[in-house]
Amino acid sequence: MLTNDLSFESIFNQQILHLKNCIGALAPYPSHSRVHPLKTFGDTQTPCFVKREDELGFGISGFKIRKYSSLVPHLLANKIKEAILIGGAYSNNIVGLTQLLIENSIQPTLFLHGDTDTKKIGNFLLSSLMVSNDSIHWISRDEWPNVQEKAALYAKKQSKRTVIIPEGASVPESLPGALTLALDIIENERQSNITFEHIFIDSGTGMMACATVLAFAWLNKETNIHVVLMAEEEKEFLETLSTINTQFESLIGGQMKWLFVKEKLKLYRPHVSRAFGSTNKTIFDEIGRIMRTEGFLTDPVYSVKLFLESRRIITQENIKGNCLLIHSGGGLTLMGFQEQLGHAAS
Ligand SMILES: *Cc1c(COP(=O)(O)O)cnc(C)c1O
Repeated sequence: MLTNDLSFESIFNQQILHLKNCIGALAPYPSHSRVHPLKTFGDTQTPCFVKREDELGFGISGFKIRKYSSLVPHLLANKIKEAILIGGAYSNNIVGLTQLLIENSIQPTLFLHGDTDTKKIGNFLLSSLMVSNDSIHWISRDEWPNVQEKAALYAKKQSKRTVIIPEGASVPESLPGALTLALDIIENERQSNITFEHIFIDSGTGMMACATVLAFAWLNKETNIHVVLMAEEEKEFLETLSTINTQFESLIGGQMKWLFVKEKLKLYRPHVSRAFGSTNKTIFDEIGRIMRTEGFLTDPVYSVKLFLESRRIITQENIKGNCLLIHSGGGLTLMGFQEQLGHAAS
């Protein structure tokens, strides 16, 4: 048993080293976040912890800055001078990546879902302070299915080297950076001497969750990963998983044990305020409650829904063992909800 254990440990370490080598050099953005216990989730048989990805940045939080740590070096290496970002007006990706584009002298051009009447609040207020009106192209709901073609047509007319970055910056070049989340959770386990039996993670485009699921499966980690799908149905997530698996296999030059992936993965849709971006009183009450009892901020689109769902899943499925809830960040979103937050006061 002991020798088996040791050899397992050494194979594990070699695989981690291999994964790190395949990820390669990244931009020196923050990539280590801490873990601490939660007071109002779980119980003695089910200790719950939070991983504070929100602490990785003020203007750009954890999930996004990880993706950008490989995407931005790729843009620079390819001497890109203009980037067309596609997304919703209130997208965390738009407001986040725009900051790094400006820093690196790459011109941001936005193709946003909506029209010129879109309220300048929250993330869009911040994006509009960074990007002038002339560089914002509004795409109506009817035209939205063709946004990629419209962006491509625009890109073709530019004399500068231009790229198109789709929603959530979920492109293969973001995968190496996205994989650092799994490695950082392993680092948290080593530092705290805790093994997390269950991880709860939210999903938008699905890239961060898929990268984590695949990295863990490839490392033969027994962790159960519970993914709460904020924007998609299960079928779309599984398609994304398959696409990202192809990218992952080519990055590591190996083959995934697909059955193991499926065994460890569980998918859920939120029960409260199910539609992506929708909010209600329960959401804001929980944001207020977490502030008062746990002492940190959550956002209404991703993180608070993850916390609400994690509690429900832990109770309903009678989950036992150490649980890690990943706080993906998104705090700037709160700027757009001052009135609702006012009602959440105690
Ligand atoms: C983008 C984002 C997510 C989702 O990441 P995906 O890779 O698109 O699934 C989750 N939480 C926050 C705060 C985000 O900004």
